[in-house]
Amino acid sequence: MPKGLRTWLPVLLVGVLVLGFLLNFREAPVREPGAVEVAYSEFKSLLRERRIEALTIHDDQAFASLKENGSSQAGEESSQIVTTLPKMQDPDLFALIEQSGADLVIRPDEGDENNWLVGLLPWLIFLGIYIWFWQRMQSNLVGRFGGRDPSDFLTGSAKKESKAVRKITFDDVAGQDAAKREVGELVDFLKDPERYRQLGAEAPRGVLLMGPPGTGKTLLARALAGEADVAFYHTSASEFIEMFVGVGASRVRKMFSEAKERAPSIIFIDELDAVGRVRGTGLGGGNDEREQTLNQILSEMDGFSGHEAVIVLAATNRPDVLDPALLRPGRFDRHVTLELPDREARAAILKVHTRKLPLAPDVDLSLLAAATPGFSGADLKNLVNEAAMAAARSNAHSITWQHFDEMRDKVMMGSVRSLAIRPDERHRLAVHEAGHTIVAHFLPHADPIYKVTIIPRGRALGGTHMLPEEERHTLPVDYLKDRLTVLLAGRSAEQALLGDVSSGADDDIQKATQMARAMVARWGMSEEIGPVDLRQSDEHPFLGREIAQPRRFSETTAHEVDKAVSDLLRGSAERADAIIGANRKAMENLVKCLEAQESLDADEVEAVLGPAVNRGAAA
Ligand code: ATP
Repeated sequence: MPKGLRTWLPVLLVGVLVLGFLLNFREAPVREPGAVEVAYSEFKSLLRERRIEALTIHDDQAFASLKENGSSQAGEESSQIVTTLPKMQDPDLFALIEQSGADLVIRPDEGDENNWLVGLLPWLIFLGIYIWFWQRMQSNLVGRFGGRDPSDFLTGSAKKESKAVRKITFDDVAGQDAAKREVGELVDFLKDPERYRQLGAEAPRGVLLMGPPGTGKTLLARALAGEADVAFYHTSASEFIEMFVGVGASRVRKMFSEAKERAPSIIFIDELDAVGRVRGTGLGGGNDEREQTLNQILSEMDGFSGHEAVIVLAATNRPDVLDPALLRPGRFDRHVTLELPDREARAAILKVHTRKLPLAPDVDLSLLAAATPGFSGADLKNLVNEAAMAAARSNAHSITWQHFDEMRDKVMMGSVRSLAIRPDERHRLAVHEAGHTIVAHFLPHADPIYKVTIIPRGRALGGTHMLPEEERHTLPVDYLKDRLTVLLAGRSAEQALLGDVSSGADDDIQKATQMARAMVARWGMSEEIGPVDLRQSDEHPFLGREIAQPRRFSETTAHEVDKAVSDLLRGSAERADAIIGANRKAMENLVKCLEAQESLDADEVEAVLGPAVNRGAAA
């Protein structure tokens, strides 16, 4: 279809529809606002009395303008009456109209006049859908090939990044020291492959970068290309999967041949799992296109002579689903794992992303790093950007701690919700959060309080945030027991101060039960059960999801596990009850403060409760 026509057809289509619409309503008899509905017999009497000046018949209705006082003098005002004509045609009607001297207009039914439009409508819709699909396909291809001719479709390949793009080096990758070291070994090879070839050293071919989303896998691959100053071909495996079988394989071929021509070079395949899943497991015999693409990648990697300086890096956060053929020697046999950053690495990442930003003197990046456990590099970058946006919105000259703190809360818990909370509910919320806070404050192994709030954010109505003083890699039993107690303390506080409990403890109970079950069934922390692995699910290494496993123990053991879990939870709730009971006055003060201020930080909590028992004891 010619390009001009393609652009104008939708406009034309809309034009035709609008025209049809207008035509449909053209000259529709205007029923005046004050029109009076009269019986047919009365209408006929008015005709006989010659009191009707003008008459329009449309469909089965007659719209008549009356002469004032029955006279026909020009310029006199007339009012409108409407009547419904009988279904059986009245043989006298037209004679009567003629005798009355009224001006008669007969308007045909729209049905007769505009039937052509109704007939055309399905065709127009069909044409519209066709054009829409065609345009989408076009823009898809153009988008994917960066505006190149869509005829490149079958042979199109990965985006080669121009060297004009700012060179990324290992300095841009903060933390991830082990991964940088492993990948860094390849820099020397890429810089001088000839030296390796002369010594007969075989080049590494495939490196699989594994790790949770946003940990810098793409960044690391780019940094390798930047350090070695070689061409970088970046593609995502999901882009290989097209509607037509064979297209993916052809793109893989093209990408490898281009990369070989420009060697030394790096091919980076993101989301390898999109094509690299175990073959032959798809529904209906598997996905032909995906398998062909995977086979093509494998055969291209086998086709390396051993001296070509092309390194294929691939990233995935699902190494568990990859086809074992991909991991065999000679393919992706080097595995580099990227972890979520620890506190120190988070501080380093924050430093990288804020190095060119105007920070206010009150910004403490190491405190921010401590306050962002579980954040990936991408999350931290996003946090910095959100804070900068907030500063710009408030017309500030620099980014302050408050901008960061506000955005941290937003990223972690969602935006502040303007929720109408009843005063008694708000009081209950304050009691609940104060319960968590006071118990955490008086337990020796609990993490220190960072902030407690009753401002609703995201799905939560309030929250007590605690931060470990040190990053923990193992969790001692005393620490876990204190954590269980803190989790159940919100419910205990409601019971103690309000005399009943509410559904507000839903999330606490879920988390506590999950933790207690892990303590009993996985970590051997129950005396009755002992050190036996009785788990019914496995945690996914990178995605943090639980994957159900078949049960491998008896019904009796399952009962014993359930009882041990329940005992542990009850014991923790009783401990929380005891702490709250012994500090009732302090509890009431804290509730009052929280209701008044809505949000309290660690110092404000200490001002009400005195020094925390756990400060410094958590490590
Ligand atoms: P995905 O699995 O979702 O594709 P990824 O692991 O490839 O994610 P990247 O795309 O490399 O993650 O990271 C996204 C952004 O996060 C990067 O562009 C970078 O700005 C930032 N980032 C991630 N890790 C780091 C790090 N270690 N140092 C500095 N910046 C980082």
